[in-house]
Amino acid sequence: MILPIVAYGDPVLKKKAKVIKEDYPKLKELIDNMWETMYNAYGVGLAAPQVGLPIRLFVIDPTPFAEDEDLSKEDRDQLRDLKKVFINAQIESETGDEWAFNEGCLSIPDVREDVFRKPEITISYYDENWVKHQDTFSGLAARVIQHEYDHIEGILFTDKLSSLKKRLIKGKLANISKGKIKVDYRMRFPKQKIAR
Ligand SMILES: [Zn+2]
Repeated sequence: MILPIVAYGDPVLKKKAKVIKEDYPKLKELIDNMWETMYNAYGVGLAAPQVGLPIRLFVIDPTPFAEDEDLSKEDRDQLRDLKKVFINAQIESETGDEWAFNEGCLSIPDVREDVFRKPEITISYYDENWVKHQDTFSGLAARVIQHEYDHIEGILFTDKLSSLKKRLIKGKLANISKGKIKVDYRMRFPKQKIAR
């Protein structure tokens, strides 16, 4: 089932998400719905807060980036097999010199800005079968994970912009929260004045 994606301005996107237990109700169904919702919106990642749930769960599939000819072979190979579920993730370390990449977010349609992040991360998490992992990712793979991880920490990429950039996109963000935007996937807008 395709779930509505929560738009910028909803308080759920600002909450630090909670750890879940193995008996979390209908977890498999939720993960299946998150995949369907993400692919329907042509996203490469989706975090539970973006479907209204403040829990430490996100999914990623950056396969579309693997076709990018500008990337190194190493980067492309890493991206190709990276369809993954992250439950109760914890970033253990982030290293290297920050690099910029133009990011977007399904909760903030039509806004894209350069965001600086460190290139290498080590992260521990459980997969959908509750097997524990600790893995190291770099480049764009790390970038996609960092973006989704921020969601479960209640951080949006727009929070990481300079105050000048933030001022420049303020009106656009206000319009998104009011639903004054055209999107071709299902969304839920916190400040839309429509009777339910
Ligand atoms: Zn996002």
